[in-house]
Amino acid sequence: MASFLAPAPTSIVPPFSPSIHKSYILMLSQKLSSPTSYEGAVTSHLRMSGVYWSLASMHLMCEEEEANVLMNSGEITEWVLQCFDEETGGFAGNVNHDPHILYTLSALQILAMFDSLSLVNTEKVVAYITSLQNLDGSFSGDSYGEIDTRFSYCALSSLSILNSLSSIDLNAAANFISTCQNFDGGFGCNSGAESHAGQIFTCVAALSIAKRLDLIDVDLLSWWLAERQTGGGGLNGRPEKQSDVCYSWWILSSLEIIGRRSWVNGESLATFILKCQDTEKGGIADRPDNVADVFHTFFGISGLLLLGQLKEGYRQVDSVYALPVDVVERLGLNAQVIEMDEGATGKQEDKRLAGYERVKKTKR
Ligand SMILES: [Zn+2]
Repeated sequence: MASFLAPAPTSIVPPFSPSIHKSYILMLSQKLSSPTSYEGAVTSHLRMSGVYWSLASMHLMCEEEEANVLMNSGEITEWVLQCFDEETGGFAGNVNHDPHILYTLSALQILAMFDSLSLVNTEKVVAYITSLQNLDGSFSGDSYGEIDTRFSYCALSSLSILNSLSSIDLNAAANFISTCQNFDGGFGCNSGAESHAGQIFTCVAALSIAKRLDLIDVDLLSWWLAERQTGGGGLNGRPEKQSDVCYSWWILSSLEIIGRRSWVNGESLATFILKCQDTEKGGIADRPDNVADVFHTFFGISGLLLLGQLKEGYRQVDSVYALPVDVVERLGLNAQVIEMDEGATGKQEDKRLAGYERVKKTKR
């Protein structure tokens, strides 16, 4: 089993360097704002998610107050509100772009970190998300109608943040997700679609928010997720693919929700993530020696936090909502987790998930 893989060679493992990563994020923010920036131009459509990954990375490495000052909370808040579409009630990826459920969740996550959700027109946003639910329980991403289990997670997480889960057919939403579970235990973007670790997180976390983890075949899914660990210690998203830092988040958080985080070798995974740091300019890449980006920086930091590698001076990350734990607690968010595996080493109580409803392992 993957958890018995030998740790990767540790000869050149740089320590985690928060100061250089903070500089990287600040530099990136300036760069993206520049009207002549190539990076800014090619990422302008998903700027809302980029801001969320940057802000969340900074928040996890700093005290809340410090992060808000460094990231200029006032300016970002104003910009997020400019991305709100009064007509539909959704948020767009950038000013004057079309609204989408992906960016609506990112916008709410940003405002949650700033403790500024009171600025949101809750009624309109809830109406927008509710309008995207289809009769079979699935969610479309926007008015164009594409359906994907990612959008189910965005809907449930957003509505939970707005304390409005009762506005949708939650049962139908959970049942649709369960139809996307495959014979191998994983989940895909739709019924019958190939299992993929990113989609698995969205399905598992959505079922956690819906408190329907009973729909998951826990042992089979845990096996599939554990099999994603490669010889180099990193995790891949599907069989026969290369390791990639972002799967540290998608897979570890899924395993944490279903109580099986110990099914991957944490030491060799941490080594892999640390080797993906750019020790000169900061940031974390998808794999060693590649160019760093803010998406992998956020998921690399989150992976190290879930592995218990970063303690003093860091905030913990919530594996369901992808927000700092203290923000989740402030909002009083709730979810469900499965009791930790009996065989887990140490079997320590996880404070991050202490407030969530605990259920025993279930099988279909
Ligand atoms: Zn990746």
